[in-house]
Amino acid sequence: MPGNKLAPTGRIVIENCAIATVDAHDTEYASGHVVVAGNRLESVGAGAAPTGLAHVARRIDGTGHLVTPGLVNTHHHFYQWITRGLAQECDLFDWLVTLYPTWARIDDEMCYAAAQGSAAALLRSGCTTTADHAYVFPKDGGDILGAEIRALDELGMRFQPTRGSMDLGESRGGLPPDACVEDTDTALAATSEAIDRWHDASFDAMLRITAAPCSPFSVTPELLRGAADLARAKGVRLHTHGSETVEEDAFCRERFGMGPTDYLESLGWLGEDVWMAHCVHLNDSDIARFAATGTGVAHCPSSNARLAAGIARVPDMLRAGVPVGLGVDGTASNESGELGTELRNALLIARLRGGPKAMTARRSLRLGTMGGAQVLGRDREIGSLEPGKLADLAMWRVDDVLHSGIADPIAALVLGAPSPLTLLLVNGREVVEQGHLSRIDENLIARNVATAATRLRARTT
Ligand SMILES: [Zn+2]
Repeated sequence: MPGNKLAPTGRIVIENCAIATVDAHDTEYASGHVVVAGNRLESVGAGAAPTGLAHVARRIDGTGHLVTPGLVNTHHHFYQWITRGLAQECDLFDWLVTLYPTWARIDDEMCYAAAQGSAAALLRSGCTTTADHAYVFPKDGGDILGAEIRALDELGMRFQPTRGSMDLGESRGGLPPDACVEDTDTALAATSEAIDRWHDASFDAMLRITAAPCSPFSVTPELLRGAADLARAKGVRLHTHGSETVEEDAFCRERFGMGPTDYLESLGWLGEDVWMAHCVHLNDSDIARFAATGTGVAHCPSSNARLAAGIARVPDMLRAGVPVGLGVDGTASNESGELGTELRNALLIARLRGGPKAMTARRSLRLGTMGGAQVLGRDREIGSLEPGKLADLAMWRVDDVLHSGIADPIAALVLGAPSPLTLLLVNGREVVEQGHLSRIDENLIARNVATAATRLRARTT
């Protein structure tokens, strides 16, 4: 995606705004400035911007706003955007078994529309970088990953898609129907091809690929081991689901004679190049091993609540030193798909389990920014507002009718109603202005999604 990676010319200057840098010292400014030069942050500090700046393309009065790093989403399944509102009262396994037959009929055109819808919800809620876990690849489904990549390129979003996979169908003791799975060699070859075709390891990459077999109950040990070997040979990260529900725990104990963390560890799946979604049912020993190995966690509070999976022990993980980011998860289990609201939900759910001090508003903002950047292996480039880093930032209005008068702008953002997003920059470029997408007509996306959902329904009835 050369167009988005190319640094824009000129500077953008934002002044008179509150700033939460989310740097190592949690530096904040009650009234400060941010200067963007090209695709990098040039200056972040108190008071007005330095004088005498040349080539200022845009100067913005940030009065009444809070500027934060762009949010980072660490877990999603874009294709689910066109299967929302179904299986509303199910736990994970019943929900999956209900939806697999529909998902087995998706194609690249549907996934293009679903990626547009998913990215629109993320961008409009302050998210500048997202992962996606695509793991359903029907034989006649076309170029699903390519379609997603095209959609996010057009919207200007930084993207870390995974080439996921499933090879353990129902006939061999897995959960998904056989029509949903690939054979092991096909999945590994497609993963290798995706890495060669798209992965960009450079500092300002807009696109990085990850290898991501789906979950212990839908893939074979051979695929997990093969994906780990492949990813390490090619220098990309690894992602999967882990310890999401008690049923998954029971499945692993029955089939493999051990819990999910022990099982995944036995296949080389703990390490600083690995992150797992959910991790709701980690015991003390699991948390210690995640911390010792630097294995990351994508915490998905809304999805865990929607499927009644349980409450992840995030404060315990953070105390132990586990990298933790936030994820919306697929929108068939979190219909809103907004990352901004996960800041609030992460705080509320942590407090339900651990009391009023279990999660602060600032800690939650850190999970959604720097924590996500760490989990995706991009903390040198994004996740905080510091000179030299990439210019991914969100400018939230906190003096509107719903937020005016809240004592603390970070409390306004995390605890209050979703804040209107005045500006979102990705790689120094405007992608959201005044709450709406800058690059593509949102009504066109809505129509594409409706058409795709109708086409999918027609295939399943
Ligand atoms: Zn998931």
